[in-house]
Amino acid sequence: MEKKNLKGLTKEELYSFFEEIGEKSFRGLQMTKHMYQRGISDFDEMTDFGKKLRDKLKNIAYIEDIKTLRHLISSQKDTEKFLFGLSDGNCLESVIMSYEDHIGPSRLTACISTQVGCLMGCSFCATGKSGFIRNLTAGEIADQIIQMQKIIAPSERRIANVVMMGMGEPMLNYDNVMKAVDIINCAEGIAIGMRHIAISTCGIIPGIKKLAQEGIQVKLAVSLHSPFDEIRSKIMPINKKYPLPELMKALKEYQEITGRRITFEYAMIDGVNDDLKSAEELARILEGFTALINLIPLNNVTEYGKKRSTDEKIEKFKSFMENKGIRTTIRKERGTDINAACGQLRKKVLEEEKNE
Ligand code: SAH
Ligand code: SF4
Repeated sequence: MEKKNLKGLTKEELYSFFEEIGEKSFRGLQMTKHMYQRGISDFDEMTDFGKKLRDKLKNIAYIEDIKTLRHLISSQKDTEKFLFGLSDGNCLESVIMSYEDHIGPSRLTACISTQVGCLMGCSFCATGKSGFIRNLTAGEIADQIIQMQKIIAPSERRIANVVMMGMGEPMLNYDNVMKAVDIINCAEGIAIGMRHIAISTCGIIPGIKKLAQEGIQVKLAVSLHSPFDEIRSKIMPINKKYPLPELMKALKEYQEITGRRITFEYAMIDGVNDDLKSAEELARILEGFTALINLIPLNNVTEYGKKRSTDEKIEKFKSFMENKGIRTTIRKERGTDINAACGQLRKKVLEEEKNE
């Protein structure tokens, strides 16, 4: 019989697993705490399991961790990047960010990946440039948080927010992402509140519709990047499949069903989407929405010939949107010295390996 990987099973699935192997179901709760709360993956460290049970588990199951290959800390110390190795030799990236400088435990935001690579091919994105390899499992998605938390634990910092804004398109790995959300949220596991978990999508309409029906409090972020259908199609090929008017309609329905605010991400690209006409049209299409706009100064991606907008233009764009009554923030640039833009580190390491 093939051994079963327990990492990636939800608490309920662990209850069933122990029942199926003829054990008491509460063992599932103990396993949830071991794997997801304490980050333990060696059965011998689970001392509340007797030796007999530990030996039995060793025969039929295992717990697979992702392996930390690189850990880089930005010069400003506010951003840390991790490159993780997977059992099939692939690798993925995750980032943790701190938002304020203060002494003592601070609450961090983790930016995690949902796929190895991405099929969407957005022109400004390093992940999109390296193609799609495979979906991550629920265990691999959740484990990014467990492993990062373990590494930073001595500093008494804690991951308190999770954004699925690393590599990949979460809505194209829907079931694994939802299972990972369950594991991340579970009170006896990683225990991060639903309101502190955000899913970012390039606009996969069926995924947005499904999420609206889940009845969970996760946050939805949508990468918009242009309010004009034609320009959006140029920089985000998925717009041809799910055009802007249809996307906005689906988002309206999502908001009517969930009553939740939607974050719109908008990378500021010089001469592409940062002019007054774009700002006016953006305000127009967001009419009637409860929205937050997050302006992201474009991260430099070597193969993409464009530059980020100037600070002055970004500020002007922000003021314009705020005058229209739409809350707008500017994402702080960080970690540029550690290739913090999604997919950049992995791409760099893969290229280095090729040249070796
Ligand atoms: N695939 C999902 C989530 C991962 S990308 C999505 O597209 O929403 C996370 C965010 O980073 C998206 O808003 C994406 O558009 C943005 N992004 C990607 N490359 C970027 C770059 N070079 N500069 C600024 N933002 C970028
Ligand atoms: Fe994929 Fe998002 Fe990058 Fe587009 S921006 S290529 S959807 S990861």
